[in-house]
Order: sequence, then structure tokens, then C-alpha cells
Amino acid sequence: MDRPFTATSSGLSRCRITVRGRVQGVGFRPTLYRALTERGCAGSIRNTPEGVVLELEAPRSIVREVVDGFGDIIPARAHIDELTLQELEPCGEEGFRIVPSAAEGRSLLPIPPDLAACEECLVELRDTADRRCGYPFNTCTACGPRFSIARGVPFDRQTNAMGSFPLCEQCRREYSEPQYRRFHAQTLSCPSCGPVLSFRDTGGREPDSPLELTRRMLREGAILAVKGVGGFHLACDATRQEAVEELRRRKRRPAKPFALMAADLAACRHLAHVSEAEAALLTSPQAPIVLLRRRASSPACEAVAPGLAHVGVMLPYTPLHSMLFDGDDMPPALVMTSCNRSEEPISLTAEHVLGELADIVDGVLTHDRPIVNRCDDSVVACFDGQPLPMRRSRGYVPEPVILDADGPPLLATGAMLKNVFALTSGRRVFLSQHIGDVSDADNAEHFARAFDDFARLLRLEPEAVVCDLHPDYPTTDFARRYSREQDLPLMQVQHHHAHIVSCLAENGRDGPVIGVSWDGTGYGEDGAVWGGEFLIAERHRFERRHHLAYVPMPGGEQAVRHPTRMALAHLARALGPEEARGRMGPPMGEEMCAAALRLMERAGFSPPTSSAGRLFDALAALLGIRTEATYEGQPACELEAACEAEPDRSYPFGYEGDDILLTETWQAICRDVDEGEPNSRIAARFHRTMADVMLETCRRLRSETGMETVALSGGVMQNRTLLGMAVPALREDGFEVLLQRLVPPNDGGICLGQAAWACARLNS
Ligand SMILES: [Zn+2]
Ligand SMILES: [Zn+2]
Ligand SMILES: [Zn+2]
Repeated sequence: MDRPFTATSSGLSRCRITVRGRVQGVGFRPTLYRALTERGCAGSIRNTPEGVVLELEAPRSIVREVVDGFGDIIPARAHIDELTLQELEPCGEEGFRIVPSAAEGRSLLPIPPDLAACEECLVELRDTADRRCGYPFNTCTACGPRFSIARGVPFDRQTNAMGSFPLCEQCRREYSEPQYRRFHAQTLSCPSCGPVLSFRDTGGREPDSPLELTRRMLREGAILAVKGVGGFHLACDATRQEAVEELRRRKRRPAKPFALMAADLAACRHLAHVSEAEAALLTSPQAPIVLLRRRASSPACEAVAPGLAHVGVMLPYTPLHSMLFDGDDMPPALVMTSCNRSEEPISLTAEHVLGELADIVDGVLTHDRPIVNRCDDSVVACFDGQPLPMRRSRGYVPEPVILDADGPPLLATGAMLKNVFALTSGRRVFLSQHIGDVSDADNAEHFARAFDDFARLLRLEPEAVVCDLHPDYPTTDFARRYSREQDLPLMQVQHHHAHIVSCLAENGRDGPVIGVSWDGTGYGEDGAVWGGEFLIAERHRFERRHHLAYVPMPGGEQAVRHPTRMALAHLARALGPEEARGRMGPPMGEEMCAAALRLMERAGFSPPTSSAGRLFDALAALLGIRTEATYEGQPACELEAACEAEPDRSYPFGYEGDDILLTETWQAICRDVDEGEPNSRIAARFHRTMADVMLETCRRLRSETGMETVALSGGVMQNRTLLGMAVPALREDGFEVLLQRLVPPNDGGICLGQAAWACARLNS
């Protein structure tokens, strides 16, 4: 910035700096207040719908110094997306003030996301001279719970769950005097005025030191509920096989991977390989669960993520979590999984845990600061040195994704699994926290309540509703009902198109592009189950150009649980029913196999599908890697984990009109099986084949349309082994590849596409 600052006859300059980005709830205003008053500047700072607006009046040299060194005086956790500078006439203002939030307009970012404990607060936690030493609820302007404790707007003490903890005199001084780093901190507290930790179990035990008892019980192999930021976790020692297996048994979750919390970054590196980009994610203020490649020597037991090459690890993100690891005899990692029965919403109160989940937990470490908004941990992987989100929730919500064009306020209800909905305001799309599988009644209720709360907190009233094309999704139902009750227009968008638009929107593109939309299942315009699609897509329209050839999906959705049925369907198509029965009869049971073959004859029970996700499932079943799925995507995940590093070759495939034929692929795979090739080689050759299918089909579309940009989305794009083969091959061939970096490629990011699609339709 080298704009001239004209000094007036008084020698003063005045300017207005408008900053957009992560500038609210990170201590931005107090930090600048301190920096600017130290320099003797006059003026003001306030939050506005346009961002933080700073007006500054001082001698010319000082204004210049502030402007040139702006990046150095903002808080470490702030992030500037855009900064504009405007020179004003000096007006002789005296003193510097923070203009309070109450006077602010309706659409500023009202609630910041929850932020992991900052370094300074963690230092105080262990400083015996500090009055907050050993205080598990230590927070400041730069860190602590936000969204999860917000009851209303603006985010201040009276409208968040800390309102019931009146400040002691010392805290009040820190809040009101700018020399303290907790100046205007809306969540500050201390041992004499803040929340109190307690331990509860069904036996009514009341220990002197809840934390000490918790640590001891964890060391001894107990399963405890621990109150976190957006819900309770179930915790146990990740290095004790019997504790982890007991947790699986009690939670009725046989195989779905558990997340771990590691004591620190060094402990993460013992558990898994950690790249620089992954370390940056682990230590970020969002503190997500990061999917890391497991080390063979990992101290965590196999049962934390059976059959998988990766393990989800996070760092302690509150002082309380950090204190769980204090002491030399604590394990380097704890299992920290959502406190619920499988697929139900995460528990919010100790009463709920002790009442409903008493058969799961041996005790509860809790406290008296309520959780207002349920919010699960976020999950992120790295691909190509950049984040690839899998679940966008705590730490990210409700920070908006910014579109490049304005639109009317919308509600986009998302899909069925991994549900997330969105509300829009102007260019901003506010994605909700992770809701989960809304076919579950408790989650459907969670959806309705979260929608009410989210709309109220953001003060948004939708003027149109957009949902999936699927007639039977609970979210379609909700959208129909809500639009009827509120008398709003309802729009429905095809699932795989919405995936591609989600990718276009976050990349700021309109298309047309070649969209590769591969996932589990989604409702197609012809009523079939789509999921292996090549589209020519713009935001507001698409054309389906190629897809994996249809096979029957025996028993419909049941084939998700029983991937052997998908193997049977693919083999029957490629090799004929007799050969298919010969191969799948033994693992399925001859009777079941014959029944599934008969089911396939009846279109009403076996909808045609082009699903790529189910194709990966089918191979996992044929190879015997996974014949029954206990969670969605398990067969495909274990197939990916089975791959050897470098496939020596791939299998052939072909085309027939729009259909991509895998007949020769399956024939070649069966030959490999018969010749006794190891699963690891077959799995890797198959992944390479699917990357070839992507490249070859994109080439065809390029030669037909001239398009050179490819957008990849859908649940299959979580497969980093596939991406690692396909993306470089596409790039080497001259394609530009767009990936999802801000929202998940799975159904957790589809509401962004729904919203952007509806905006484009309404604007076109
Ligand atoms: Zn802090
Ligand atoms: Zn206090
Ligand atoms: Zn999908």
C-alpha cells in the first residue's frame, strides 16, 4: 500500500480501513484498540455488514506506519481476505473508541465459530504464578467457545451461555480496561467466577478432584463421557485394545473408525505420518480431526480404525482436554468419539448421558456451562498439500462461504446422509453444523431444531427453498412442508448436478465445465439411482453426457448393507448369471444368492444404478475384503486401504453410446482372482482403471466440446488413492482440475451447490 497520505495544515491525516475476512470473534477490535491507542491515534473501530471498519486520525507518519504495518498489528488468528483504504478529511477527533455491537446492522457475521485454546491461555494454564493456573475454562478474546454457546445476537456475555456466570471484580477489570488481553472478551472467567467441573456416575460418587479421578479411571481402562465444546465425547485409552473393543461392543459400533485425541503434536507423529500441511491443520484454531496415514509402530491399538490405513487424530482444543493428558502415566492418545448410540445426535447434557447411555459409560466428567448449539468435531484430510474437508462443523460453522454474486435469502436443505443445510444472505452461504443421517428420527428432529436456531441466530428468513430431487428424502419432505407453511417457492435440483455446482461455487466459476460426479447414490432425472456421472455443467443447468452402465441394485438401498449383491449384479452383467452365481454363491450362501438373482429380474425391487460408490463396494465384496457393511462406504474405504502403492497396470474398459462399459474390466479382474493375484494388486489395478475411465471420458468430452476444465465432486472424491492417480493424469493431459477445498465433496457439501444453483436459476 503506497497511497500518499496528505497531511493537512494541522499535520494530521485520516483514513478509513475496511477489512473483510476472519476478523470477528478473534480479538480483532481489542487488539487494534491497544495497538492504536499506544500510538496515540484517534478514531474508532466497529463491526459492520461490510466487515470491520476502522477510522483513524493521527499525524501523517503514524497513519502511514499503521497502514504499512497493518499485517503485524492484527491478532494472530485473524485472517484478512480483503482490505480497502480510503482517505478522509481530518475532523479533529479525540480519543479512540470501540463502537459497541448493539448498534450494528442486521447482517453482520453475528456469531463467530468455536476456536481452540490459544497458546497464551495454555501457558497460563500451567503457570503456577497465574491466577488461572489449572483452570479448565480459560479463554480470551482470541479463543474459546462461541457458536456452541450462542443463544442470541450480537455475541456478547448476556446472549451466550456465560451470561449465568457474573464476572468477579478482577475479571470485570480485565474486561473493561484495554491494557488487558481479555479486554471485551465475551467468554472470560476465572476460578472464582466461572464454571465448575464435576464428576458424576450412577453410583453418586463425588470426588474431591473430578479431573484426577477421570485420569485414573481412563488409565485403568474405563469408558467415560467428557463434556466438550459442542457435545459430549466418549473417551477411553486408545492404546488398550480391550478398552476400545469394549467401547465398540457397548456403543454397538463394530468397525466405524474412532477419532483419537493425541496429547500433542509429538504424540501425533508417533501415531501417524504428519506432513507440514497436516500439522498446520492440527494446530489451527479450528482444530479439526485430521485423517493421517497410520504408522505401523503406532501405540494406538488396531481396533481404533480396523481395516483402514488412516486414522483420525485431533489435538486438545480446550484447556480441559489438554489437562486430561497431564501426568507422566497418561496414554499418548485417547479415543474421543461422539457420545451417542451409533448415528444418533451427540449428547448435550450429563443427565441425558446418565439416563440414556448409562449402559455405555462408567462415569461423566462434566461442568455447569451449558452447550446451546450441538456441534460435532470437523474432519479434514489433506490432498496435494491442501485441505480436503470430510465434515465441516466445529471451528468452521457458522463462517460463511462467499459466492461471487448476490441472491435472495434461501434455505437449501441438503441431502439425507451426512446432512448439512444452508441459509444464504446476499453473497454469503452459511452452512449449518453436521446434522447426520436424517432418516434417523432423532436426527430429523435435530435438523428441525438446528434450522430454527440457525435462522434465528443469523436473523435470516428464507424467501425460497431448495432441496434434492429425491421424492422421499426427509429433507425434501421438510422443504415441501416449510415452503407450504411459509408460502415460499420450492425448487428441486438433481443431486449430482448440485455436487458439481458446489465445486464450481467454492472455486468462483460459472462453467460450463466437465463435471465428474461420482458418489454412492442419488436420484436421477430418469428415476434411476445415479452416481457415476459425467456432466457438462453450468451453475444453472447441466447435460448428462456419460455414465457408468446401469446394473440392477438388488433390493435397492439394501445393497448398501450387502455389497455382495452389487458384486453379483456386476458379475451377472459381465459374465452371465451362472458364472456370477458360481463366484458369489459361496460367500453369500447359495439360497441368498439365488434369491438376489431372482430379485434382479424385478425392476421394481432392483432399480438400475450407475453408482461409482457401489461399484467400489462390489469389488470389495468379490475380493472378500468386506461382504457386509456396518457403515456407509465401509467396503470402498477398506478396498482403498488394501491397495498396494504402485499399480503395474490397469484393466480394459469400453463405451457403448453414453454408457461406460466395465464388462472387460470384470472379466480381467476375475482372471486375476483365478490366477491368485493378491487383493492388494487387484485393488490397486482397479483404482488405476477408474482413474483411466475418468481421464479417457474427459478427453472424449474435451474433443466434443473444447472444454478443458474438470470439476470433481461426490463422495467418491474422498478417496485420496483415486484422486492421487486421476488428478495428476488429468493435469498432465492439459486439464485444469477443480476440487473441493472449503466444503466436503460428499453430501455434507451439497447444500452449497443447491444454494448456488438456486441463485443462478433465480438470476438467469
Ligand atoms: Zn486464549
Ligand atoms: Zn473471575
Ligand atoms: Zn451425493
